[in-house]
Amino acid sequence: MNLRKRSVLLLGLILVVLSGAAFLSHYLIWAPQAKAQDSTTQSSMILMDTVVDVRVDGPNSAALVDRVFQLMAELENLFSRFVPESEVSAINRRAGEWVEVSPLTLELIELGMKMGRITAGAFDITVGAVLDLWGFGSDLRRVPGEEELQGALATVGFDQVEVDRENSAVRIPQGTILDLGGIAKGFIVDQGIKLLREAGVERALINAGGDISVIGRRPDGMPWRVGVQDPDQPSSIRFILPLDDQSVVTSGDYQRYFMVGNERYHHIIDPSTGYPARGLRSVTIVGDDPAVCDALSTAVFVLGWEKGRTLVEALPGIEAILISDTDAWVSPGLAQAMVTQ
Ligand code: AMP
Ligand code: MG
Repeated sequence: MNLRKRSVLLLGLILVVLSGAAFLSHYLIWAPQAKAQDSTTQSSMILMDTVVDVRVDGPNSAALVDRVFQLMAELENLFSRFVPESEVSAINRRAGEWVEVSPLTLELIELGMKMGRITAGAFDITVGAVLDLWGFGSDLRRVPGEEELQGALATVGFDQVEVDRENSAVRIPQGTILDLGGIAKGFIVDQGIKLLREAGVERALINAGGDISVIGRRPDGMPWRVGVQDPDQPSSIRFILPLDDQSVVTSGDYQRYFMVGNERYHHIIDPSTGYPARGLRSVTIVGDDPAVCDALSTAVFVLGWEKGRTLVEALPGIEAILISDTDAWVSPGLAQAMVTQ
């Protein structure tokens, strides 16, 4: 089993244990009320290359869980550059031409560009050619040469992406490869949550391999609890976060990587160098919008300890945990919530 599959399975296991604990407390507290018990549905599926858990409480929960999975699968088929029929694949294949896309693809790309601006380019949805050189996306992992890296870097620049809202079309420069892997999962989780909210759901949890968003609180009235993994030992939990109608996303260098000697080459690329970003081991972002949290977790990882903290502190409604080899920083608002809830 390769490392990626193993870490996905491991993550899945931890999440099953965590959500199992949440479910157990639900069971213990609500067991006498058969009606409430009957109306909880929890199910898992492999989507977006990871284990996705969906839990819904309330009427029609089973049908709603199915609808969420169906929606997520449809959206993955629009946004993944590894699905040949996807809209993002069409944009990449026809680089240099305008390509008509559906409104959600346009919205996601515009959000990706906005996150590029907010993070001063640390988050860049055009980093695809660099990722390909490192072999992320295929299983041919390798350390690229300096010259080819410079060639790929010349195709990177989110501000070169053009969006025509009136005609719902997108154009990227020839040679550029759009990659929404740093934001699409969070965006898809958000769409699932929106579907559930629109259906009137008051308690739910979607967990897409660590991109987690919840509606409401646990049945016992307490916030949901989400574990933040220890980057050195991803099977153990380093922090437990309370989550109340919020989202949490973690980016870590242990999620997708290969080793050459003692050097770890992972999947979060610093667009200013073309190399995997150095300095941090993991970044966890808490906020309202899982797509924004997803992009920020990647971006803060790239920005590193100092600039990453500065960005988090400048963004209202955003909390974070930054973990390096020797240190951890919990943003003040989150530290407060961890103590009081
Ligand atoms: P995440 O796991 O959310 O941190 O996202 C990592 C994924 O985002 C990678 O697998 C790539 O698809 C993509 N990616 C890597 N580096 C960047 C970057 N600097 N900006 C935007 N996307 C990136
Ligand atoms: Mg991300």
